[in-house]
Amino acid sequence: MWQIGCARTDITPPVGIWQAGFGARTSPSTGVHIPLHTTAFVIGDGTRTAVVCTNDLVGLSRPEIERIRALAAERCDGLDPGDILVCCTHTHSGPAVSTYLRGQPKDLGYIEWLCGAIAHTIVEAVGGMQPATLHRAEGRVEGFNHNRRDESGYCEKRLAWLEARDADGGVIGGIVNFTAHPTMLTGQNLLLSGDYAGVLTQELSRELDAPVGMLNGCHGNINAFPRAHTDLGIVEDHGRRLAAEVLRLRDGLVEVPDGDLDVRTRMVELTFGPPQPRALYEEIAADTEQPGYVNDWARDVLARYQGDPVDGSEQGEVMVIRIGDVAVIGIPGHAFAEVGRDIVAALPGLFVLNANHANDYLGYFGTREAHAEGGYEIEFAYRFNSSFRWAMDADTTERIQQACIDLARG
Ligand SMILES: [Zn+2]
Repeated sequence: MWQIGCARTDITPPVGIWQAGFGARTSPSTGVHIPLHTTAFVIGDGTRTAVVCTNDLVGLSRPEIERIRALAAERCDGLDPGDILVCCTHTHSGPAVSTYLRGQPKDLGYIEWLCGAIAHTIVEAVGGMQPATLHRAEGRVEGFNHNRRDESGYCEKRLAWLEARDADGGVIGGIVNFTAHPTMLTGQNLLLSGDYAGVLTQELSRELDAPVGMLNGCHGNINAFPRAHTDLGIVEDHGRRLAAEVLRLRDGLVEVPDGDLDVRTRMVELTFGPPQPRALYEEIAADTEQPGYVNDWARDVLARYQGDPVDGSEQGEVMVIRIGDVAVIGIPGHAFAEVGRDIVAALPGLFVLNANHANDYLGYFGTREAHAEGGYEIEFAYRFNSSFRWAMDADTTERIQQACIDLARG
């Protein structure tokens, strides 16, 4: 039998903290819409323990991930730091937390507290592990998201659900997997909020009286639709309707047979566009027409990479947790929906949950077609959310996708 424990903690920062996700935001938060949470889902098979920890945050970078893993593992016997998957829903109405994300000031005291609170929640979930059964369901939903680059382009409509039950059939906790940027609330919204994703997990946690977390799928080019700007009612209605779809899915729950638990990780090489001369970055760093965060990006690149032209590669972690025939796939940024679709198609017989912004916050993994077309995600976003010398290339996306498939197959 599986051993499963779940826990959920409020991580809402003090009002007045700066929010992250929109470069153009010019004032700090003024209140709270939906409190932000961290949710830990811990599963063991008697020999190994793995953690899926989801957070109502824009993204966490490697330094925060390593801190959380170390803090949690040192307090849990037999829990390997590398067996902890930490991911974020990517709400654009949460606090500025990622090391790499630019544009707004960060509250380092809050970030330190946050890492401790997330680790503590994992420890609490490990402490509550009990004999459990695991159940899954999936379906397709219309009217919740769209392809933001191309209305007629691919949009992921899959809604998936994983539920843990105790020996008496009571719900221990759950994980919902849907695909859409939590950007219904836009840069004009100054209330801290988990956006539709926060409403979704709040509703399900209340309805099932158990901790529920959300994995955001490959949502690089997918937005929740419509945009609400500052209209909280539209966001709440959207999250509630999506929660109702999950509750309907529960009529068709299938038990995940007992099996092995395995965690597989690969560090994938990240490569970028052609090397650029140092003089180009010096020019961008000094260009007063550019937003301040773009000047900062160019300065960081000059400090981080040596040589002229500026060249060098980086690494990103892909992680797969296999729970019997379930594969939780962690991608260290947001991939385009076609990437997620192709991963699922390559893994017949497996029940796949795609988790983006997992274990790092590296930006967009665009398809080769998207790279040929250009646009915000391909040509600009890396100057806002990384210190990379240029945008990651299409080869990187394909390497990430292949690592997901290889690791899931095992
Ligand atoms: Zn994004």
